[in-house]
Amino acid sequence: MKPHYAIVTALWLAACAATPEPPVPDQHRELGVVWVEHSAEYQAVAQQIYAQARRDLPRLLADPDWTALPGHDAAPEKPPAIIFDVDETVVSNADYQATLAVEPYTRWRHFDWMRSHRAEAVPGAAAMVEAARDAGVTVFFLTNRACERFDGVAGDCPYEKVTIEDLDEVGIATDAEHVLMAWERTGWDKEKLSRREFIAESYRVIMLFGDDFGDFVACTRAKPLPPCTEPATRASRHADLQRYAGYWGNGWYILPNPMHGSWTTVR
Ligand SMILES: [Mg+2]
Repeated sequence: MKPHYAIVTALWLAACAATPEPPVPDQHRELGVVWVEHSAEYQAVAQQIYAQARRDLPRLLADPDWTALPGHDAAPEKPPAIIFDVDETVVSNADYQATLAVEPYTRWRHFDWMRSHRAEAVPGAAAMVEAARDAGVTVFFLTNRACERFDGVAGDCPYEKVTIEDLDEVGIATDAEHVLMAWERTGWDKEKLSRREFIAESYRVIMLFGDDFGDFVACTRAKPLPPCTEPATRASRHADLQRYAGYWGNGWYILPNPMHGSWTTVR
């Protein structure tokens, strides 16, 4: 290689190293938003997942040895519970996501949008909650919406109230005891493992519902949070996908989300 080309190549490689790959190309993000917001296909997939889960509920409930939390011993003496994520699992954010083409995401903007607009339902979720409650199962909502103060807004945790209102708008009544926010207690960061473990202290968790790998599996993020010490990678997530193969569609039910999530930042 001539020295001139070597210098150009070195500069090009340095530029590549300095410029991180964008999380999701914009045109793909827009396609994802349109798909969730407008397609019959998205609605059909969500209904299909929740219909399967409703059929599975009696079987999982009746099996005293069943738990949807890997590594947990059977706990037939504990009352049954199921755990839902909120955004893109029960409440659709597609309308909000469409605004990101104009203004970037901030926690304040997401909070302000959600308190200002009527929540859109993910089809099938409310019917699943109703079926679970009819069967005597306690329902928890475990969300990474943040418990934090916002300037000019009353209360220490205003997003919890807005979340309860959003759930009410999609036909699900609940209360603060059953909504577990990020940072609501010490140690409840955006790694959801600690909150799943908190619920499991008192309940036999029989089903998980979410749209993000982290709603099911620990240590799925590019930026690890305790107790995770290593960044997740695409390879580590695929290894976990196989490790827990028996749970997908069998106690674990993942909704499609082509718009955002921890999958966008791992490499
Ligand atoms: Mg979600």
